[in-house]
Amino acid sequence: MKINRLKKSHKNLSFYIQNFQYREPFQVIVDATFCQAALQNKIVVDEQLKRYLQSELKLLTTQCIILEAESLGPILQGATSIVKKFYVHKCGHEGKPVSGAECIKHMSKQSRYIIATQDRNLQYALRKVPGRALLYLHRATPVLDPPSDASKKLVKNTQQKSVTKNVERSLEQVKKAIEIASKQSEETPKIKRKTKNPNPLSCKKKKTKVIEHPQKKIDDKSKSIEKPKRKRVKLAKHVKLAIVNK
Ligand SMILES: [Zn+2]
Repeated sequence: MKINRLKKSHKNLSFYIQNFQYREPFQVIVDATFCQAALQNKIVVDEQLKRYLQSELKLLTTQCIILEAESLGPILQGATSIVKKFYVHKCGHEGKPVSGAECIKHMSKQSRYIIATQDRNLQYALRKVPGRALLYLHRATPVLDPPSDASKKLVKNTQQKSVTKNVERSLEQVKKAIEIASKQSEETPKIKRKTKNPNPLSCKKKKTKVIEHPQKKIDDKSKSIEKPKRKRVKLAKHVKLAIVNK
């Protein structure tokens, strides 16, 4: 098998793993048309698919697929015997079977299956549904269908949405930050005002202005001019003499 082909299949498989939660062991629903093509090209389905996808696989089919193949009689006898070897997955149509294609469409809604089919109409229908992985045989070579436009579109939209969500989230964070900052700036002046208040210990009492009567002022002035009275101490004569003689 060519390396390029393996690289492509790996790339395509990675797309489904990354964007549509496909997980190993990958579940592959195989229908009778695929088994018929495998028979014609003389390939062993499970061996070839495991080698191509280089992964653990679980090959499945449904009761509806088997019943349809059986109903077609001897033409599909070989394919029917191959498809019967796979694990028969419950499809919900027990007792009232539908066509293989309808059953696969219904099944692919429920979980992450890789659909292995040569039915062109079914392939066309599944490509319209995002996230559906398709496998088909090109002669003897399995091909994992590249992601459909519907799948790529959905992934692109989801990525854009997540980008806008991230932008919205960061805008919201910025808004909150601004709100918090403005709240803080509203609160801080109050604290500043407190600190601006003069220290009560250093406060001087306000001088209360008293309107004085002019006459009182004059009286006060005269009082201040008045010299303090000296107390005259009378000294005895002999004391006076003693001081003078000194
Ligand atoms: Zn079914």
